[in-house]
Amino acid sequence: MAWGATIAGGFRAAAARTPNAEAIIDERVVLTYRELTNRATRLANGLQTRGVQPGDKVALLCRNHAGMVICFIACAELGVDAVLLNTGLSAGQLTQVLEEQQPRAVIADTEFDAVLTGCPKDTLRINSWHEQGAAVPLTLDDVIDGAAATARKPPAKPGRIIVLTSGTTGAPKGARRPNPPGIGAAASILSRIPLRAGERILVPAPMFHSWGLAALQISMPLRATLIMQRRFDPEATLKAIQAKRPTAVFAVPVMVQRMLDLGEDVIKKYDTSSLRIVALSGSAIPAAAVTKFLDTFGPVLYNFYGSTEVSWASIADPKDLRQAPTTAGRPPLGSKIVIRDVDSGQPVPTGKVGRIFVWNDMLFEGYTNGANKEVSDGYMATGDRGYVDAHGLLFVSGRDDDMIVSGGENVFPREVEELIAAQPGVRECAVVGVPDEEWGQRFAAYVALLPGVAMTAEEVKTLVKGSLARFSVPRDVYFVDELPRNATGKVVNRLLSD
Ligand code: ATP
Repeated sequence: MAWGATIAGGFRAAAARTPNAEAIIDERVVLTYRELTNRATRLANGLQTRGVQPGDKVALLCRNHAGMVICFIACAELGVDAVLLNTGLSAGQLTQVLEEQQPRAVIADTEFDAVLTGCPKDTLRINSWHEQGAAVPLTLDDVIDGAAATARKPPAKPGRIIVLTSGTTGAPKGARRPNPPGIGAAASILSRIPLRAGERILVPAPMFHSWGLAALQISMPLRATLIMQRRFDPEATLKAIQAKRPTAVFAVPVMVQRMLDLGEDVIKKYDTSSLRIVALSGSAIPAAAVTKFLDTFGPVLYNFYGSTEVSWASIADPKDLRQAPTTAGRPPLGSKIVIRDVDSGQPVPTGKVGRIFVWNDMLFEGYTNGANKEVSDGYMATGDRGYVDAHGLLFVSGRDDDMIVSGGENVFPREVEELIAAQPGVRECAVVGVPDEEWGQRFAAYVALLPGVAMTAEEVKTLVKGSLARFSVPRDVYFVDELPRNATGKVVNRLLSD
């Protein structure tokens, strides 16, 4: 085992080459690559002195900040698995995950004290930093400052990163990802996005999720500066873009939708001219938002399709998105996509909807509960359906589970959502299947309107009737203030029906 094969190796290499370059900027500190790797080595030494051994697990429950990155590197130095806890989990869900994962230590921000009530006995608790009233007195700084800076040898076995899936379809599952995911990840991303050495990357996407993590992974070979904020706020993000001049942003779709909601007058107050790349992933983005974003910010938008299990499988660049705003693009270098027939499992002809399977060298290594995703001929099932058009562009129709059969026809909510969301005055919309006596299943639509806008259920139904087949017309239309979303910004359908 050599350093080069771990995240620690990637950051050490960057520190050797550009020790004084800024690696991290957050609301509290600016750390150079030398400072970052020094702190990580000390943290690894300090954790080991406190009983954390190679092969153990360390759980992190943190917002995006420098401490989280120091922990990632320290875990890799020690050869422990880093378990990334989703900041949106309830106390009950956290207890369940911790019970299953049995981490040796939990490193958490103070704000999560109230939900971190079910840590297994004898777990070492560490606070990210000192805050008034914290339930746990030991902080990351205490451990780092009290530890030797003695250089470490590479661990015998690399630690993994255990990422929780978003929990969109049920309880979040722990997915084991290699640490790092191999040279393929960098080659793949760089084959489709014009990222450069020394990039300044703002990361509002949560780092506990595979998409925020992608920004961290790409920052090592680029010797980039990661700019992090603990909380996402649309106007604060525009302010940060003006003040810190990032060249790239890694975000989830709802974040850019919220920025667009501010309206052109507010957006234009800020200088966002430093941006060359705004990379999105994690869920579909409505076509109307894609076009508005390109009109407002210029040709800087990239849409990545993928999942915790397969990493990114396709990337749409600004040209693809201008031409076809709903596309998920094309597979990057090292990735292949095949669409298989739902019944026969055979590849389908161009334009036909089937199950999406992915091959690349970034596939996950299975869930921590022993389960795995279906794999056939080396291709992993994504759980989504879609098609590839004559230009080789992928279109994701929706998840297997979201499709309904209405009057004998297979229908996906996304088409209806796109139509309603494109109406002036509609802020956002979600469509889900509900039982229907006559048709078997029908849709129910949940619509959030912009302030001051009035619309009736009949108007929404008439709109769909005018453009789509009868079975796509929602049986029920509900107006809501906002859609329920999880911490990765995805609409949680099961909460809608509640
Ligand atoms: P769980 O497995 O716990 O239900 P999840 O599947 O939502 O959670 P993720 O791995 O974060 O967890 O999400 C991956 C899914 O998100 C994909 O399978 C796909 O349905 C959707 N998705 C991601 N990116 C895109 C995109 N660019 N376009 C359309 N859908 C996307």
